[in-house]
Amino acid sequence: MIKIIRRLSQILAIFFILAVPYLNDRQINIIMGNLYASSIFGIEISDPLIFLQNVILNLSFDFKFFLSIIIPLVLAITFGRVFCSFLCPVNTVFEFLNKIYPRKKLIQIKGDYKASLILFSILIILIFITEHPLFNYLSLPGLLSVELQKLFISKSPSLFWGLFVFLILIDYIIRRRFWCNYLCPQGIFIGFLKIKKTLQVVKEVDKVIKCLGCKRCVTSCPFYLNPMEEKIYPQCTNCFECVLVCRKNHKDQAPLKIKF
Ligand code: SF4
Ligand code: SF4
Repeated sequence: MIKIIRRLSQILAIFFILAVPYLNDRQINIIMGNLYASSIFGIEISDPLIFLQNVILNLSFDFKFFLSIIIPLVLAITFGRVFCSFLCPVNTVFEFLNKIYPRKKLIQIKGDYKASLILFSILIILIFITEHPLFNYLSLPGLLSVELQKLFISKSPSLFWGLFVFLILIDYIIRRRFWCNYLCPQGIFIGFLKIKKTLQVVKEVDKVIKCLGCKRCVTSCPFYLNPMEEKIYPQCTNCFECVLVCRKNHKDQAPLKIKF
């Protein structure tokens, strides 16, 4: 069931991105915008990272802007990084390509969240010093949504697609989800928002003994996290692939489960 909901959400997000130019071209404006900022049946929704950037650039708190980030904020605090696993078109493309062309031998380099945090802090400082909206250029979900819409209308690819293919190659050759692991400011920022009661993957202590050590949870994880042996947050995107594969093998004796 979770997998079906996830796939439907991913398809719906791509459908939303492509439907906007099609509908707006016909003067139907019930949905507008992209993944930076959108309006869905009159409800304004903005990327919290762009709000943060706005605060840094203007040194002021725009209350109307703040209202538009409440839905993404509540989503992230309640369900974790599900924007990444259920909605982000970047992850959808990577997942789709990994499915149709899975790599047998994968280089398993661990993600380093501390390095990502340092990079994120440097970006914040640079935005402040240069007064330039750097997150606009580094927000890959926002950029991809805009470029998909442009491609849908003009049918001629821009330079962006060359860079995106380059990222796809890095995903294959160097490390699965290289961008998401090390560079994506959205992913890093959403990871900050997890609280104790956020939906999460946990191991049931009384069933840990039942773990066969098959490591299928690790190989199924796009980030190579090991939920049986290590702290998986804030990198974990709550895709629940590890829980599903564990349940498939162990049925109701599976040591991994999802809880708030
Ligand atoms: S880390 Fe960034 S690019 Fe990756 S899935 Fe999350 S929002 Fe998308
Ligand atoms: S640890 Fe599990 S839920 Fe988290 S990203 Fe990896 S597979 Fe998905």
